[in-house]
Parts: sequence; structure tokens; C-alpha cells
Amino acid sequence: MKLKVIGAIAVGLWFAPPAHAAPCLTVTVTGAQGGPQAYQGQAGPGTLIRYGDDADNCSAVRLQFDAGRGTLLRLSQLNVLSSQLNAVFFTHMHNDHSEGFIDLIQHRWALFPASPKIDVVCSDDVGSPLGFTVSCKKFVAHIADAMIHSGEIAQRLAEDKRRLADGPAALANVRAFAPTNEPQAVWSSGDVKVSAIRSTHIAGHASYRVDTPAGSVVIGGDAGNDKFAPPRPSSTSEQVELLAKGADVIVHSTIHPVMGPERDSGMPPPIFLRQSTSSDLGAMAQRAGAKHLVLTHLIPATGSPQHGAWKVPGGALTEDDYRKSAVDAGFKGQVLLAKDLATIRLPAK
Ligand SMILES: [Zn+2]
Repeated sequence: MKLKVIGAIAVGLWFAPPAHAAPCLTVTVTGAQGGPQAYQGQAGPGTLIRYGDDADNCSAVRLQFDAGRGTLLRLSQLNVLSSQLNAVFFTHMHNDHSEGFIDLIQHRWALFPASPKIDVVCSDDVGSPLGFTVSCKKFVAHIADAMIHSGEIAQRLAEDKRRLADGPAALANVRAFAPTNEPQAVWSSGDVKVSAIRSTHIAGHASYRVDTPAGSVVIGGDAGNDKFAPPRPSSTSEQVELLAKGADVIVHSTIHPVMGPERDSGMPPPIFLRQSTSSDLGAMAQRAGAKHLVLTHLIPATGSPQHGAWKVPGGALTEDDYRKSAVDAGFKGQVLLAKDLATIRLPAK
């Protein structure tokens, strides 16, 4: 028996082609919850993109896009340590997309004091038309203020002198950029290139595209159309559509049309109108030529008769309700309804 196995291996090796580690990429939803609502343990919005080859299980580069509530826990289920992320990208400064970064960077600072600084890529400070400044830089600079004021950072510094004296914020290398209406390069490492484009949701919103030899992924975030209310051709962002041309995968937050002002959800129209509907995203993904559309940050979550204070007209939606809205609008690729840890691999195995 033993001899037979050895023989089979020997034959296999003899005929095996020269070992080429083929490039590969995975896209994993680290959190599928839409908005700050808490529902059945879903983590807050985020997407992990890993790129590498067969030999390293597609994991030479690890990029996190948004980091909502519970991101660190979802990463731990993937055996990804806080110290192993190369960069975090923020689409915008809404707490549902950013609060998970607080425990992620605290974890990296406390447990991996020798780890390199983590790149934090986000929009430069921007004035909101509502009269205040939206600042990713300040969010990061003050990320551990509560723990500094409670005395915890001093306590942990006393316990381990290798930790950076200025606390977790000192472990972040903020690379802010001014979002523009054309794609601009914002980060790269080897074969992995990340570009960004300005998009509308709140001031400073940006959407990202990752290009690799294994495929391309667009992270739309909460982008909506620049024109804030109908009449408009679509609720989706024209810039995101430009960014998404020829991409393999589009990961995008969405809202179901049933929550719109013509129904009786009670959701204020501006909150509905600043998101992209699932049907408009289906049409946009088809125009862009995408093969996979990942609908995430679902407003409302499937199975929920409420979204926070607002009711879901006609009762809870199913995954099919979302899928159908994208397919009926013309999308011919694969629609994936995001759940935490849902993953797409390119190329498929
Ligand atoms: Zn959001």
C-alpha cells in the first residue's frame, strides 16, 4: 500500500508541469450590515482583498476597505492578524464604516508592537456644505483618545516598553488624497495597484479599485449619484461606473427600492436618495461589464421587517428580492448577496 502511494506521487511529479504559482485574489466581505443598526450579529461594513499566488494562498498582500463594527473578529475567523494588514482604506467617515478600526489598531499596537506602521488611505480634510470639516486625519490622530484619558495607554506602556510611546495613532501612516472625478493612483505594492475616485454620499466620500494580474475589484462604498434627487438617470454614481469599466467584481452598498419615498417606510428621503438602489446597481454593473456584483450593506437586511426605526413596506425582504431587482434591471453576471465572510476567488477554483 505504502509503495503504491509513493509510486503514484513519483508518477505525478514526473508528469507535473513546472511549478508556476498562478496569481490569485480573494474578495471577502468582513461585514455586511448596512448603517449603524445592529442586527443578528452582522459585522459593520468592510471588505478584505487578498492577493498573492497559489503557493501563499493568495495572501502576499492584505488590504482592508472600511472597517465597521467587529472587523477584527471577522479577520480572526479568517486567521488574519491585525499585524498582517498592509493598508486600510476608508470610503468615508461614517461610524458604521470606521469604528472597527479603533479596536483593530489598538490590537496591533498592544499585541504586535514591532509591526510596521499601517497605511491608512482616505480623503483629505474636506469642508461639508453643512458647515463643518470632515477629517479622516483627525479621526486617526484621536483614535485612542478615550484610552489615553482613561490611563489605559500609560498602563500598557508601563507593561511593555516596545509599544510606541504616543499610543495606537502613532502606528498609522495616514496617506490622505483629494478625491477627483478621474481615477487617481493612491496606493501600490508590487503588482497590486489601488486607484480612487470621488463619489457622493457625504463630503469626502471616495470609491476604490484594486487592479492585480488575477483580476480587478471595485469597492463602491455608499456612493450615490451626484444629483441628489430625481429626475436623474440613475441613483448610482457616474464616477463609480467610470472606475468600474472592465472590472471583474463590484462590491457596493445598496438600498432596496421598496424603502423609497413613494412607499411608507418612513425613512427620510435624503437618507434613501444618497444610496444606490439594488436595481440601478444591476443596470450599472451590466454597463460596466462586471462579472460579479456583490450587494452588501443591505438596507434593509434580509429577513428584517424593520431597518432601525423604519419599517420595510410589504414585510421583510428575501435574498431573492434583492437578486431579482438587479437581474430584472439587466445584470447578466453573478449577484452575490453579502453575508459576513462571503468570498469570491479569482480565478475561480
Ligand atoms: Zn454606510
